[in-house]
Amino acid sequence: MNRIYIKELNKHTGKEATIKGWVDVRRDQGKMIFFDFRDMSGKVQGVILPGAKDAHEVGEKVRPEWVVEVKGKINKRPEKMVNKNEENGDIEIEILEIKVLNEAETPVFDIQSDGHEIGEENRLKHRYLDLRRPRLQKNIRNRAKVLKFVRDYLTDENFIEIETPILTKSSPEGARDYVVPSRIEKGKFYALPQSPQQYKQLLMVSGMEKYFQLAKVMRDEDTRGDRQPEFTQLDVEMSFVSQEEILNLTEDMFTKLVKEIYPEKKVTYEPWPRLDYDEVMKEYGTDSPDLRKDKNDPNELAFAWILNFPLFEKDKEKGHYAPSHHMFTAPKEEDISKLESDPSAVRSYQHDMVLNGYEVGGGSIRIHDSKVQERIFDLIGFDKNQKQKFEHMLNAFKYGVPPHGGIAPGMDRLMMVFENEPNIREVIAFPKTGEGRDLMMDAPSEIDETQLKELGIKITKDKK
Ligand code: ASP
Repeated sequence: MNRIYIKELNKHTGKEATIKGWVDVRRDQGKMIFFDFRDMSGKVQGVILPGAKDAHEVGEKVRPEWVVEVKGKINKRPEKMVNKNEENGDIEIEILEIKVLNEAETPVFDIQSDGHEIGEENRLKHRYLDLRRPRLQKNIRNRAKVLKFVRDYLTDENFIEIETPILTKSSPEGARDYVVPSRIEKGKFYALPQSPQQYKQLLMVSGMEKYFQLAKVMRDEDTRGDRQPEFTQLDVEMSFVSQEEILNLTEDMFTKLVKEIYPEKKVTYEPWPRLDYDEVMKEYGTDSPDLRKDKNDPNELAFAWILNFPLFEKDKEKGHYAPSHHMFTAPKEEDISKLESDPSAVRSYQHDMVLNGYEVGGGSIRIHDSKVQERIFDLIGFDKNQKQKFEHMLNAFKYGVPPHGGIAPGMDRLMMVFENEPNIREVIAFPKTGEGRDLMMDAPSEIDETQLKELGIKITKDKK
């Protein structure tokens, strides 16, 4: 008999059906054994009646989390037994046959609770079990809905999804790179992308005009609650676009997304406020202010834009300027002359997207004039060698580059806020710890001598 998903069972009332899944709960009442079964679509109650001898024999052994195939009759529950607050609360499977597909040890922790009470190390080590808990099932399934929504939205707006390389060269977004040694060219390294920034700009030179990608990006920074060594950005780039158009598109996409996927939530401000960096700093002392009207309300989403950032920050250690965003962000036209006289007074076309006190995305209109780009390289103190690393960008820009700009909302932080979670690990299937470890896979880990030899690498261990 074909397997029926638990969610569909009510269409089979009065008939026989077979389900496959896990035992969620078992209540042995002697003559009758009650179960809740669970599959990816939902839960349902089942009962083995005293007459079903064979089923009884198996049912006595079966324990929670065992994997079973159950054949039974889908009965309407008598009026008194109907539970309106429970999914499938009006039906029950009268179990005729129960087959054990696999036994299970007792889980190392409770998987029915929300899990906040369990030590995180333990949860991450057994993440495959932790993910069974309803809260994480909901987070990961809603994440898929959110990703599908943005994919569909942008595709409908004539964007194309393009994958860019993971093995690449450093893209300087201001963090430390993760590097991968090359076997063929010993002593040389790839860098994992801190963002597909250069590729997406080069795709504009290629005439793609509207690009997006759900991009994995890697930054070797100290991890915090809202940071992971690798995370997912909705990377977007457009040609012939104004900052206003980027803001409008992003705002429309996320406002519609919230209405469709989180109808219980309220977007506080429509349109999203557009705030001046200087004023925000003066008023809130941070460039990612929490603008909710009621901070106790879990369903309030206060999106806002922060604009008019300074192009540079003064790097105190090195004594020269560092880009506030990244080195491809365009200065405002009216400030270009100040690049010579007073660089710290130059405003840029950076836009930051904030939500409930978190920076959830950033982007900018880019420089598309090689002379201005070179001038920025000088101001941030690049020597010849460093400039050479970006020769491909300057070269590409000689061949007819359209004005362009983009944005990269961070999907993990957005999901964290949408799901009212305290940190982004709760919305990532397999996150790393604060120390950057994957406790389940035990990564990072040592590699064997042969691998090291192939790569021409010798490890020198610091004696501490
Ligand atoms: N690459 C930038 C970032 O990762 C976003 C952008 O400028 O589009 O923050």
